[in-house]
Amino acid sequence: MNKPSQISRRQFVGTAVSAAAASSLAAHSFLGSSAMGATAPSVADWKDEGVLFVDKSPYAKLHNVPVRAVTITEGFWGARRQINVDSSIPSMEKLLEANGRMDNFLRLVGQSSAAQRGPVYSDSDVYKWTEAAGFALQSGDRPELHALTNKIIKEVVAVQEPSGYLNTYYVGDKAKDRMQPDVQRWGHELYNLGHMMQGAIAFYRATGDRTLLDASMRFVDGYLLPNFGPGPDKKPVFSGHPEIEMALIELYRTTGEKRYLDFAGYILQGDDRIKVQKYGYVYHFCGIPFTTRTHLEGHAVRAMYACCGATDYYLETGDQAYLKTLNVLWEDLVNRQMYVTGGVGARSQGEAFGEPYELPNFTAYGESCAAIGNMMWNWRMLAATGEAKYADVIERALYNGINSGMSLDGTLYCYRNPLGFDPSNGDKIRNPWYDTTCCPPNLERTFASLPGYLYSTSKDGLYVHLYDNSKLDWHLEDGTGLQVTQKTNYPWDGSVEIAVAPARPTEFSLFVRIPGWSDGTQVAVNGQAVSGSTPGQYLALRRRWAPGDTVTVKFGMSPQVIEANPRVVDDFGRAAVQRGPLIYCLEQLDQPEGMSLFDARLDTRQAAPRFATEFEKDLLGGVVVIKHLGAVSERSSSGSRLYERLTATAPTARATELRFIPYYAWANRAATQMQVWTPVLRRGTLNQGVTF
Ligand SMILES: [Zn+2]
Repeated sequence: MNKPSQISRRQFVGTAVSAAAASSLAAHSFLGSSAMGATAPSVADWKDEGVLFVDKSPYAKLHNVPVRAVTITEGFWGARRQINVDSSIPSMEKLLEANGRMDNFLRLVGQSSAAQRGPVYSDSDVYKWTEAAGFALQSGDRPELHALTNKIIKEVVAVQEPSGYLNTYYVGDKAKDRMQPDVQRWGHELYNLGHMMQGAIAFYRATGDRTLLDASMRFVDGYLLPNFGPGPDKKPVFSGHPEIEMALIELYRTTGEKRYLDFAGYILQGDDRIKVQKYGYVYHFCGIPFTTRTHLEGHAVRAMYACCGATDYYLETGDQAYLKTLNVLWEDLVNRQMYVTGGVGARSQGEAFGEPYELPNFTAYGESCAAIGNMMWNWRMLAATGEAKYADVIERALYNGINSGMSLDGTLYCYRNPLGFDPSNGDKIRNPWYDTTCCPPNLERTFASLPGYLYSTSKDGLYVHLYDNSKLDWHLEDGTGLQVTQKTNYPWDGSVEIAVAPARPTEFSLFVRIPGWSDGTQVAVNGQAVSGSTPGQYLALRRRWAPGDTVTVKFGMSPQVIEANPRVVDDFGRAAVQRGPLIYCLEQLDQPEGMSLFDARLDTRQAAPRFATEFEKDLLGGVVVIKHLGAVSERSSSGSRLYERLTATAPTARATELRFIPYYAWANRAATQMQVWTPVLRRGTLNQGVTF
């Protein structure tokens, strides 16, 4: 440390981590029933912590508000969240039981004779469910759910070994494989632990109960830190499936124990004592310094979770090399790698990112978990910068690529979220259970945590990120009580009424997010028009706010035709339809009898009739349907040969009306008729009848 120029940054970090771990271990009793350290937050703190607890993070410009401070009332997300807590979370718990996920724990304490079931990462399904329950309990007491979560936590911690190790897969004959290099790559031990921490933290923030939190600290302090990390007396770490990084940093934020942050930094840096082929660094998105990354590649969920952890690390350390890399990767994401739905990960093979602009529709992978990872990463970037472009991505992913992942009744889930789908191949897209069931509880925890994403505070005031009927009961950062009530029919309608009621007249800024898609946004305060709205930015309304003040916002909700960069060859000649935050799609059963979507075109001539929109309350839980003129080629794709000679006379087409529904709601009706096509063909030369 005396001559930092003579040692590499990597060595420097390693030394610091080692020292921190040793000193804190000596001072910290982690084997007792309670691991309350000297820096543990006071009782009041856990209730005040949001999805992330970044109040003390030196490089966070925005701070989370607690999930419990925001009540989402009846409306778009209210309905979705009700189904999540009434149906999805309880039914998933039953499925976890039925598929042996709890038996895996019970067997180890002699309470079940069932054999081990499920892949190596099965414990994480239980933890992710616990996190969903934890967030749900932050929105209100549910004694039954609370008791069930307590029971599960009890069954989990009963399995913990005296060393702190806790994993139901690497036991018995497999205990010798623990944290072996190959198992670090593929065994998901640290991934499971990361989810255990996140579940523990969500439940702690709901109830103040530290049982699972203490257990996860025992794992880290008793097993991990004494045996693994930098230094000649410890074994190196390769996270394998990034997740542990962001979890360790949230554990640091929750407990104030800096060794967790340092250990996360060590993992993000990579330990070059572990030699992995280049493919490994690419696929696992770990093992080399995060700050050497130049583009997104490899397994999409791994990459998104790594970016989450790296952003968390930046929020705590201010390390500019991290911010620089994160910006480079984010530009890669939105300019070359993201679907119009906010989904990421183009390839099924390796669940991976493809080449730049490789965004196929029918074979799109777009795993629900990856879209969720995208939202989580952007939430962290938003905290770091206060820039609305990150909230735009959050909204895009949330309403589309994430929301599509759960059926409207809350019991079926997508693993893949393709943008085109032909059911004739027999593939079933929505299922109640997957043996790799990462996505269902991930969707559940996301919807359960949603109130925590509507607002942030900063020293200047309050940020409004997302719009829905809701009530905020919180305070400004100077402690002044503040209530904010939103009334709206968003996303079906672009009008939002925001009642702002500080406890006493107070000057601050209300940062109203103007979504990037909204043209001609109108904003008024107490009926007086306010200028300066710019799409994709926050409009700062600074004034002395007093109870009774009202902001009215009208977003431009005209449907839009969106086209991709021509380098996205799969979208060449196609367009997507968007209205507000929602991407729309065509489903076969909404179209005229006998018309194949393969033969349909969207009429994009200037002279074409404009979009017609209509709210249909009985359709798909109530949606705005969009209609637009289209055309159907008389030469049916099903009757054509594979190749036809191009002639001067193009096939004729007849006009038709195309009927669009929101993409998230696709595949919720008769299975045999499912077919979705988000980017639709356009601009054919179809003469005689309809010419484009
Ligand atoms: Zn998944």
